[in-house]
Amino acid sequence: MTAATGPIEDDLPAVFSAVESEVRSYCRGWPTILATAKDSWVTDTEGRRYLDFFAGAGALNYGHNNDQLKSALLDYLSGDGIVHSLDIATTAKQNFLETFDRLILKPRGLDYKVQFPGPTGTNSVEAALKLARKVTSRESIISFTNAFHGMTLGSLSVTGNSMKRAGAGIPLVHATPMPYDNYFGGVTEDFHWFERVLDDSGSGLNRPAAVIVETVQGEGGLNVARLEWLQELANLCRKRDILLIVDDVQMGCGRTGEFFSFEAAGIVPDIVTLSKSISGYGLPMALTLFRPDLDVWAPGEHNGTFRGHNPAFVTATKALELYWEKPTFAAETAEKGLLLRAGLDEIAAAYDGVSARGRGMAQGLMFTDADLAADVCRSAFERGALMETSGPSDEVVKLLPPLTTSRSDLEAGLQILAESVAATV
Ligand SMILES: *Cc1c(COP(=O)(O)O)cnc(C)c1O
Repeated sequence: MTAATGPIEDDLPAVFSAVESEVRSYCRGWPTILATAKDSWVTDTEGRRYLDFFAGAGALNYGHNNDQLKSALLDYLSGDGIVHSLDIATTAKQNFLETFDRLILKPRGLDYKVQFPGPTGTNSVEAALKLARKVTSRESIISFTNAFHGMTLGSLSVTGNSMKRAGAGIPLVHATPMPYDNYFGGVTEDFHWFERVLDDSGSGLNRPAAVIVETVQGEGGLNVARLEWLQELANLCRKRDILLIVDDVQMGCGRTGEFFSFEAAGIVPDIVTLSKSISGYGLPMALTLFRPDLDVWAPGEHNGTFRGHNPAFVTATKALELYWEKPTFAAETAEKGLLLRAGLDEIAAAYDGVSARGRGMAQGLMFTDADLAADVCRSAFERGALMETSGPSDEVVKLLPPLTTSRSDLEAGLQILAESVAATV
């Protein structure tokens, strides 16, 4: 999440540092002006090409400017389709809702209502938290160590990272962190901690409205929860009448293989958040999904100007038709994930203090010496690849290539990574 900082950014024209706020982040690690992009490749104004192993933080699972998505979008725009985004009924929204229901919800036996909470991931999380509190009339939410759920106040209250939390400027309350799977390195059964404090009337834990969890913590350092752990968590929530929210903003839309990252665990969350790749084209779009009996909203109770961007509905619909009509795409993603993992395992095996981690096409390398991860990303940039760090100390090089990346490009990226590690460690 935090881009590497350093004098290297001085190579950019002064307007970026003179006019744009100090809050800018990614451009510090990739100090070049990007001009065009196609599929898994990005080109800067000097004509240098970069293999994109970050995919807009997972917002481009189908690659940059995917030809078929682009032509659907251009057709819609040239036909003067509705562009603005109040929650009116439009042809674009109708097509999206019908297609999402037909290709994603129905085949999975998922009975969810769809809310358009605003265009970003954190909008979706805020809607989920608000709804959980309204349904249960309880305030407290359980989150997990190293979770990332977004930067607005509600989402930040369930986010772990202390630097990001400090930016709130007010107390972040009504949320309690619990150890994520493997937090104690397998020494203590992490999960029983939560069960224990729920049962203990002396624990000081208020009865929570909901638990919010990522199946794989992307920003938190590619921590993968075991499927059994997710199942136990879902069981515990059901037994205690606590709502289970799965934040699938980054790991959904096929990143781990199946459309939803929780499918592999066979669990059915009460509420699901989706964003990043749901539009398929990098256009802002988010969904909050929930069981119909939880749909206690009054009309307009959660409202806003950008409730569903029609051009994003067009590309989202097309992406579902192209990639989710048949099971082949999920199977191919799983295979590519194994290819990526095998390459990472091979790199890791050659060094002490380097290990591979991840699930599906969310894979990475963890460095015991945290500083090395940013150095490796910088070296990869110089060799023509975009890679980012994640984790509480930015100790993980996180790879999120577009799911449509060819096998030969995946191998080329692994080769660049191997060279970068060799040059750094
Ligand atoms: C990126 C992310 C968010 C926040 O999404 P934004 O669009 O940046 O607000 C929330 N949850 C998870 C798991 C994410 O990865």
